[in-house]
Amino acid sequence: MSNKKGDRYNSIMQNLLTIFRSVIFGRCPVCQQGKVFRSFWHTHEHCPVCHIKYEREMGYFLMAIFIAYLLDGLLLIPLAIFLFNRVSVTTNIAVLIGVLLIMTPITYRYSRIIWLHIDQLLSPRQTEPKT
Ligand SMILES: [Zn+2]
Repeated sequence: MSNKKGDRYNSIMQNLLTIFRSVIFGRCPVCQQGKVFRSFWHTHEHCPVCHIKYEREMGYFLMAIFIAYLLDGLLLIPLAIFLFNRVSVTTNIAVLIGVLLIMTPITYRYSRIIWLHIDQLLSPRQTEPKT
């Protein structure tokens, strides 16, 4: 009985590691092989490997904006707290704006990739045949 639980735990951990690796390297949420981005700013319309359509509908990536807010908040709030009594308010704001500008391309990309993976977990889809 406990062996079954251990197998299930290992399976869940393996899936989480696969998803984490796939997010880090910007891979497709379905096949974990095809790249999501074709250039720095543009996503592929379909996965180059399994051919699923990334943008399921108009405005599909709007939810990625909220994930970008979350990522920025996770970075900037601790930084603002850390700098609070160490530097002046003006310097604090300047540092936060500078970090935000530097991080924007990274949060843009990862928010889309994370949203694709969350959507795949919430509403799984299989590979689509090439048309
Ligand atoms: Zn794929």
